[in-house]
Amino acid sequence: MSKRPYPPCAARRFASIGLVALALALLVPDATLSAAPAASGSSAKVPTGAAAVQDDRPPADPAQFARCLGRLESTARSRGISDATWAAQLGGIEPDRGVLASLDFQPEFRTPIWDYLAALVDTDRIEDGRAMLAEHATTLAAVERRFGVDPATVVAVWGVESNYGRNFGKLSLVRSLATLSCFGRRQSYFQEEFLTLLRIAQEGHVEPGQLVGSWAGAFGQTQFMPSTFMSTAIDFDGDGRRDIVGSVPDALASTANFLRRAGWRRGESWGFEVGLPDDFNTSVTGRRSKRPLSEWISRGVTLPDGQAIDPAALKLSAQTRAGLIVPAQRDVRSALAPAFLVLPNFDAIYSYNAAESYALAIAHLADRLRGGPAFHADWPTDDPGIGRAERRELQKLLIERGHDIGEVDGLIGSRSRAAIAAEEERLGWPRSGRAGRRILEALRR
Ligand code: CA
Repeated sequence: MSKRPYPPCAARRFASIGLVALALALLVPDATLSAAPAASGSSAKVPTGAAAVQDDRPPADPAQFARCLGRLESTARSRGISDATWAAQLGGIEPDRGVLASLDFQPEFRTPIWDYLAALVDTDRIEDGRAMLAEHATTLAAVERRFGVDPATVVAVWGVESNYGRNFGKLSLVRSLATLSCFGRRQSYFQEEFLTLLRIAQEGHVEPGQLVGSWAGAFGQTQFMPSTFMSTAIDFDGDGRRDIVGSVPDALASTANFLRRAGWRRGESWGFEVGLPDDFNTSVTGRRSKRPLSEWISRGVTLPDGQAIDPAALKLSAQTRAGLIVPAQRDVRSALAPAFLVLPNFDAIYSYNAAESYALAIAHLADRLRGGPAFHADWPTDDPGIGRAERRELQKLLIERGHDIGEVDGLIGSRSRAAIAAEEERLGWPRSGRAGRRILEALRR
C-alpha cells in the first residue's frame, strides 16, 4: 500500500503531489515539487499544497456541493462521526476550485532528473539533515531498534517530504478533500480519505487547526494521506495521540513503520552506484528485473570507478538480487550517465512515493547524510541543475535586472520561469524558463 493515494504512478500524481511533489513543476522541493520526470517515466511528484493551480473554469456548483455533502454526512454518521465533529469541521465550508485545477493539472514543464535531484539533495538539505540526525539521535536510535530502519533513511524521507517539518502545505484538508469528494475524477477515492480525515479529527490525534496539507490531502511531517495515517501512524512519544504534525518522534516512527511495512530489510542498503561497460546491453535494466549480483558482475557491471564489485565488502552476497536502473539514458556527450544497482530497500522507499526519481533522491540524500560522496558519474547534460541556495541567488539576480518574481524563496515558480525565459531571449538563447547552472553563470557576469 502506498502511503499516497493511488498505485504507482498515480500514487505520486496525487499525494506526492503531496509536498515534495509540486516542486517539480515548480522545481521546488518540499511542500511543492511537481511534475517530475523521471527516469522510469513515473512522475515524481505533482503539484501540491501551497501551489494551487489557477484556471478559468466556472466555480464549482454550490447546490451540487450541498447535495453531495448531505450524502457524505449520512455516511459519516453511519460510521460514527458525531454531530459535533461534523459541525466543527464542515461549518460554512465552500468548495475550493483550486484543488480541482490541481487535480487536472498537466505540467507543461517536465523536470529533468538532474534538476529534481539538485533541488532535493542540495547543500541546505544535507546540512540541515545532519543537524537533525544529531538533534534527534536518541529518538532515531529507538526508532531503528523498533522498526529496523536506519536514522539517515528516516531523516532523508523527513527532509524531502516536509523539509524537516517546516513545510506541511497550507490548505484546509477538510475543504480540499470535501471538494475532491464531490467534483472531478476519483471522487470515491477521495470520499474515503475525507471520511477517514473526519475520524482523525474526532479522535483528536492532531491539534485542531493543524489539519492542513497538500491539495490532495497529504499532511504532516510525513505527508501521509488520511488512510495511510490510519494504517501506519505511530504514537511514539506515548501521549496517546498519533500526531504526525506536532510530534517529531511520532512522525519519525511513522515513517519508519511505513518503510518496515513496505518490506524494509534491517541492516541492508538501498543499493549503490555502478559503472557499466560502453557496450552494455541496457535492455536488461529495470527496478523489477532483479538478478543476482553474480550475474551483473559477469555482465561487466563494476563499481563506478571501474573497480570490481565485491559483494562481501558491501555486506551482501553474490546471490543478492538487484535491479539495474539507468535514470537518464546516455547520449553522445556522456558514456557515463549514473547507473545504480538497487535492492529491496529501494523498492520500500519507492512505495512511499511511486517514482524512481523520488526513491533515488531519498536514497542518495541518506547516503550524503552519512557522509557519502556525490554521484561518481555526471548526468548527461552540459547545464547541470542547481540547489536552493543557487536558486535564491538566481532569483536575486533576476530581481536586480528588474523582473517581478515575488519573494526570493528558492522556489522556481511561474514568474521566475517567465523571467528566466526573458533573460534567455535577451541572450539569444532558446526560451526554456529552466533554472540551471548556465543561466545562473550568465547572470552573474
Ligand atoms: Ca504521540
